[in-house]
Amino acid sequence: MNYFLAIVGGGPAGYTAAEIASKAGKDVVLFEQNALGGTCLNVGCIPTKSLLYGAKQYYNATHAQKYGVTAENVVFDFAAMQKRKTIVVRKLVAGIKQRLNNEHCTVVSGGAKVLDNIRQVWRIECNGEIYEAEHLMICTGSTNFVPPISGIKDNPAVWDSTDALAATELPKSMVIVGGGVIGMEFATLYHELGVPVTVIEAMPTILPNLDQEVVQVLLDKYKKAGIPILTQTKVESIDGNTVHYSSLSSEESKGEVSAERILVSVGRRANLQGLEALEGLELNRGAIVIDEFCQTNLPKVYACGDVTGKIMLAHVASRQAEVAVEHMLHDQMVNAQMENDQMVNAQMVNYNAVPSVVYTNPEIASVGLTETQAESMEIPVEVRKLPMTFSGRFMAENEGETGLCKMIVDSRTQTIVGVHCIGNPCSEFIAAASCAVRNGYTLSDFRQVVFPHPTVSEILHELL
Ligand code: NAD
Repeated sequence: MNYFLAIVGGGPAGYTAAEIASKAGKDVVLFEQNALGGTCLNVGCIPTKSLLYGAKQYYNATHAQKYGVTAENVVFDFAAMQKRKTIVVRKLVAGIKQRLNNEHCTVVSGGAKVLDNIRQVWRIECNGEIYEAEHLMICTGSTNFVPPISGIKDNPAVWDSTDALAATELPKSMVIVGGGVIGMEFATLYHELGVPVTVIEAMPTILPNLDQEVVQVLLDKYKKAGIPILTQTKVESIDGNTVHYSSLSSEESKGEVSAERILVSVGRRANLQGLEALEGLELNRGAIVIDEFCQTNLPKVYACGDVTGKIMLAHVASRQAEVAVEHMLHDQMVNAQMENDQMVNAQMVNYNAVPSVVYTNPEIASVGLTETQAESMEIPVEVRKLPMTFSGRFMAENEGETGLCKMIVDSRTQTIVGVHCIGNPCSEFIAAASCAVRNGYTLSDFRQVVFPHPTVSEILHELL
């Protein structure tokens, strides 16, 4: 059978593309070597959030006195948390299977290998069978990066995030190498469950790509809570359970810290396995180069998700997939000279308005430019900021927290170009700020939006 589209990889990019194209009546084959849902659903976003929610329940129960509630003998059962996490993941994977269950979509379990392109048909091999397709979409994701530090490989004390999520028992102590998103989310999880955690970060600050004033609020809280965070610190080697490090700020200072487990979370790299035959595929720093419609430099080959190295977030992957499929369908209709009104309106991905969330406690959520980024682009900005306590709902539900919300405004046009917040539950309203940034709202445009009262989202309105 000749498919319209062959997709390698069934994560958020791959399954979204498969669903849209097949529901548009195009025959699609999707290859997945592990479980549908990819890293995000199986060993990333969803399992971490499930465990973090369990940890938050425990933390809240043991810190409820400030709300006038005393709970005694509060215990947690890590195995039960893990079991629940597995059930959540299983249900969501089943949901994806359901979404792909239509006559135009074939899901093949196995590792796919792209073979060649003969007379404008891509040939892909999987489980000994050959599949042919007009379009190819690469959604192979990314894998944990293992830095060249001696003592990491084959060390049973060293975990990556996948190992950490699979653990059946909590470690007694933990060192986390890398204070990025994964590192800080796991630091939150372990700390809230009572595990002593030390974070080691090479840069002068944790979460270096985020607004640093917002990050400082988290740093202050975590330092006060007793989480040692060693910044500007380079890991020299790992010897069994001991991490040897040196300070990058002063040559003299060296040190070591031991723990039952050492989690290494220093980034992820595009996964190009099975694509070796795609000769001439343009790469940049190991990731596939794409244009604004997610096309690679090879004919009728698209790439979406982490493998493109753009922004490694599941919601970017699924948006890229929407854009790529729309573009493919549009292209085909143009080629077939169909009527304009039947054409799909092919859109581009707007990377400037992608929200991101770090599930620490409190959460951090942001969208658009930081002050520093605006400065480097020579955009004159006005920075508006308020503690989250200006929201009544925040005050009611976040005893002892101050939070912070910053709005970055282009002072030439009064356009909102960025929003950065820390405070629960800012992940739930950052989408409103994304709409403002995506649609180029001015302060006056956004002022006309009615925010429900009392909600924490009103902090955005307070800033206008
Ligand atoms: P990251 O790039 O966010 O952070 C890695 C950190 O490790 C950086 O701060 C870096 O300076 C530091 N580092 C690198 N080498 C080091 C070394 N030798 N010693 C000490 N520190 C070192 O990467 P990550 O945290 O591994 O996450 C991978 C990807 O997954 C990211 O793109 C992230 O956005 C994504 N992710 C997103 C979410 C979310 O949306 N909530 C959650 C988890 C992961």
